[in-house]
Amino acid sequence: MKTSLIHPRLLIPFLLVLAFITISPSISASETVKVQLRWLHQFQFAGYYIALEKGYYKEKGLNVELIPGGPDALKPIDDVLNEKVDFAITGSGVIIDRMEGKPVVALAAIMQTSPIVWITLKSSQIRTPQDMADRKLLIMPPPESAELLTMLAYEGIPKNRLNIQDTSYRIEDLIDGKADAYDGYISNEPYFLKQRGIEYNIINPKDYGINFYSDVLITSEKMVKKNPTLVKNFKEATLQGWEYALKHIEETVQLIHQKYAPNKTLNHLRFEAQTLKKLIMPELVQIGHMNPGRWKFIAKSYRDLNMTTADGNLDGFLFKDNKKTDYTLVAAISVASAILLLIACLIIFKFRKLSLDLKKSNQMLEELAIIDQLTQIKNRHGLFEEASIVLSQAKRHNSPCIFLMLDIDNFKHINDTYGHPAGDVTLISFAKTISKNRRKHDIVARLGGEEFGILLVDTNLEEANKIANTILKNIQNLTIQVPNTDVQFSITASIGIAPAIGTLEEFWHLADKALYQAKNNGRNQIAIMQENDE
Ligand code: GH3
Ligand code: MG
Ligand code: MG
Repeated sequence: MKTSLIHPRLLIPFLLVLAFITISPSISASETVKVQLRWLHQFQFAGYYIALEKGYYKEKGLNVELIPGGPDALKPIDDVLNEKVDFAITGSGVIIDRMEGKPVVALAAIMQTSPIVWITLKSSQIRTPQDMADRKLLIMPPPESAELLTMLAYEGIPKNRLNIQDTSYRIEDLIDGKADAYDGYISNEPYFLKQRGIEYNIINPKDYGINFYSDVLITSEKMVKKNPTLVKNFKEATLQGWEYALKHIEETVQLIHQKYAPNKTLNHLRFEAQTLKKLIMPELVQIGHMNPGRWKFIAKSYRDLNMTTADGNLDGFLFKDNKKTDYTLVAAISVASAILLLIACLIIFKFRKLSLDLKKSNQMLEELAIIDQLTQIKNRHGLFEEASIVLSQAKRHNSPCIFLMLDIDNFKHINDTYGHPAGDVTLISFAKTISKNRRKHDIVARLGGEEFGILLVDTNLEEANKIANTILKNIQNLTIQVPNTDVQFSITASIGIAPAIGTLEEFWHLADKALYQAKNNGRNQIAIMQENDE
């Protein structure tokens, strides 16, 4: 005999009402959202302006207010935690706060490499971190600019020889000799100085192996729990804004000049846009992408340098916008809670299964983002993420790295002659062959189509040339079997080699040029390009 607290005929309307009540707060018509920008209006926040002006926020039911930052608004973490604002933008130092127990959540890292640098005057002769000992250094309050201090610590400048003072926010203090080094943005102050004919040096943490995220979009854990859909929508619309802004730089510059930053000249905004685009790397990385491994590395760097002693758990630090799960989870919970009234044990079983599935799908999504599904080696995101860490470490140990770019010759012909499945088999065999004998820290990745990359760590040009020659031979010796037939064929490849110096974008470009040369010279060969060959 069935037992029920609710008559079966009332059950469906009851469930619908319950589901509606549970879901409705997260889909209300228009929600007001306050965003604290990291600094005054400038191209640095282009994606946010575009999302606002093009109606991307509005489409998601968000009524967004962008609050410009400045010297008096530099407490992004406190501001989101005290609910003064809903979102804020900050530096990678935010992870120190998280380790120290502050419930702050990162949604996206807009800059894959930080624009924050030390600026000194050429006349001062301060060119390296070592020259900065016992000099007056103006810096922003923490968590801003943590990478500048990290570089000095890595370079072994003793704490008692660091004369660090709160910044005056006046570059004139550097020009007038009242300070010896100034904490600035590579996209901003150099433009001023150039305009005024003042020669300067840039001391960039990236050149000393400190390659951290920057302009990290944050919110509070409370906000994520209370309204995950709003958080997800805000993030998506913002990234959509960034995508548009970087594809339409001139239009965006005009908009910022007209509506937000009339005091910044168009040329200054253009300079800022071009400089920041190199750090956002939209061609190489999905805008805003964050890798848990890289964050762990950043956290470890701060700990190693005693910038924090906390070793807090980082679970929950990265926002998981697990596609449609917000709604399904909410709907499932409403249905499940209704069923609870009827059959208690069934709901326990259901809920458990649901959360297990969610965990599994999160893990899968993370892997999908960095692994090429056909060859099972890293894809270009995977290469980029790991390269940031590997190159930082190599730089610190002063060990050279080399980048190889490999491309299968006449691959289109293989597809055309033997069919697409044979092309796929070729790609899989190729990936296996070039991965063979690689050392632990080397990175092998499929960059796209029939193009592959290898970052060789602790390897000089001569060794890299030998490795490339061995790879060419191994490729020539490969026999590929056309699936479900007895037909076999062989392949060749071309390889471009460049020293991994400068940014990934820079040496990628060089290796690509070398590859082009190898193709032009007749394929099935190697070409090398060095920085000064450009
Ligand atoms: P080159 O020697 O100058 O490199 O010529 P190519 O024919 O190798 O280069 P091209 O760029 O003209 O052709 C690359 C082809 O690779 C075109 C594309 O259809 C094919 N391709 C891209 N991805 C895949 C894939 O995943 N599987 C297969 N089978 N083919 C692919
Ligand atoms: Mg090819
Ligand atoms: Mg190609």
